[in-house]
Amino acid sequence: MARNGKAIVFDSTKCFACRSCQVACKQWNENPAEAVVPTNRGTYENPPDLSYSNWLLVHFKESLREDGSLAWNFVRQSCRHCLDAPCKQAAADPTAIVIDAQTGAVLFTEKTANEDFARIRAACPFNVPRQGPDGRLYKCVMCYDRVQNGELPACVKACPSDAIEFGDFDDMLALAEARVQAVRAQFPHATILDRRDVRLLIILGDKESLYTLQSAVATP
Ligand code: SF4
Ligand code: SF4
Repeated sequence: MARNGKAIVFDSTKCFACRSCQVACKQWNENPAEAVVPTNRGTYENPPDLSYSNWLLVHFKESLREDGSLAWNFVRQSCRHCLDAPCKQAAADPTAIVIDAQTGAVLFTEKTANEDFARIRAACPFNVPRQGPDGRLYKCVMCYDRVQNGELPACVKACPSDAIEFGDFDDMLALAEARVQAVRAQFPHATILDRRDVRLLIILGDKESLYTLQSAVATP
């Protein structure tokens, strides 16, 4: 069945963790820098977590595969824009979290300031919603404002290795499936995460356990 709306493909087999996408996201959305002094956590990953002003984070993970080879893997954490969004279902006010008609993006409105943050956050399977100093909740908006004006999301535009693609949902799903088939010889465990449930289609090359999919550091 054809699905309306848009999707983003993130291909971990092409990502080399330059974090241009993180910077572009912050820049386009005019999200302020936070007064967090970085500490050495034994990783190049920075900042340590999503926040009300960091909507996209590239996680690093260094580990050993079963054959003893080193895996240094990168994956994006941001809102997956769930097709049947649990955060929206958890909201007391059905107009606090809305779906953008063109893209299908899940959008937090200013009314989320009146919602129970803990309840919304607990409902999200991907640990995404964060609360700002103004009380409202924030996360990736799929750059729906850029898309309405015929532009690509800022992260897609900024990526120098074409690791992020954007387009109609069915086209993106077909692209992701073709990509998984194409890289199978090099990455036998290649897979697409939650392909039937979300608009951020993440391709992993290695086994899922060899990636950090959510922040290890739990901040509000
Ligand atoms: S990833 Fe979390 S915040 Fe985003 S739409 Fe899904 S449930 Fe909501
Ligand atoms: S801009 Fe592209 S290559 Fe760089 S971290 Fe983001 S997804 Fe990876």
